Amino acid sequence: MATIIDGKAFAAKLRVKVKGLSDELKASHNVTPGLAVVIVGEDPASQVYVRSKGKQATEVGFNSYEHKLPATTERDELVALIDNLNADDNVHGILVQLPLPKHIAEEEIINRIDASKDVDGFHIVNSGLLATGGKGFVPCTPLGCTMLLKDHLGDLSGLNAVVVGRSNIVGKPMSSLLLQESCTVTVAHSRTKDLPSVVRQADIVVAAVGRPEMVLGDWIKPGATVIDVGINRIEVEVDGETKTRLVGDVHYESASAVAGAITPVPGGVGPMTIACLLYNTLQSAYRRVGIELPDDRV
Ligand code: NDP
Repeated sequence: MATIIDGKAFAAKLRVKVKGLSDELKASHNVTPGLAVVIVGEDPASQVYVRSKGKQATEVGFNSYEHKLPATTERDELVALIDNLNADDNVHGILVQLPLPKHIAEEEIINRIDASKDVDGFHIVNSGLLATGGKGFVPCTPLGCTMLLKDHLGDLSGLNAVVVGRSNIVGKPMSSLLLQESCTVTVAHSRTKDLPSVVRQADIVVAAVGRPEMVLGDWIKPGATVIDVGINRIEVEVDGETKTRLVGDVHYESASAVAGAITPVPGGVGPMTIACLLYNTLQSAYRRVGIELPDDRV
């Protein structure tokens, strides 16, 4: 049976580290990291994420600023808010919760955020810095996956990694990070031919597909490390009643019988995402006073 990679416990440790470093920054420079979260509209899942981000930011001693705007907000109004937050010295990190309502172009808004406050790592400058090995902000979910991998495996160099999914927020940055760790990286997607045999080559599998339990146990090389990014809510029958359950993009039961290690869903990658958002915000506050924190992937 595979070792379970406990993302919940790792994220809790990371938050303790962030709180300690945040307290140190207050003591040494009288600076309190500030995270501004902007949400437009009433999407229930987004509301839950935003509440959770604000709560966790406060718990590690940050100032948390929440901006809730109605779904009818005009583009100009949102741009003006971003400009204000860019100019506000108390704000070190700005996050615009996606998706935005359809009448607002997400790309424009993301790129309006000052790249030095883009703690989500989605700004074009930060994507470019990641791709070229510079020091920007790394998107939180792939950053969290890399931390878990390095914590579990140590040196990743020379390992075969297969990333299933090529989105801008998970798959692509994940493949850049693995390449930086000197893995041999394959990025698979919906046009990949014979996906099971591609995945079977992998020492590291990162599944970020958005399809419940798609990656099966017999696709996994025995002993491989499996990182399941997927979060899917599915309906299940329990005693004749229909209930919902969270599952990943990996079929946990069959994969955990073959893999060397695996992240569960929930409790794997999920908790790492917000912990890494806090880490990026802390990094931004330290950078403001001219200090670069040690490599955040270790
Ligand atoms: P996207 O829908 O943006 O991307 C999905 C990717 O999977 C695409 O590149 C797509 O390929 C590929 N894909 C879809 N179907 C197949 C298939 N049958 N075979 C191979 N590849 C396929 O999703 P995200 O990257 O945003 O998210 C992926 C998963 O991660 C989701 O379950 C999401 O909920 C979860 N997630 C979890 C987070 C966390 O905090 N743990 C954070 C963000 C996402 P193509 O490009 O060819 O269409």
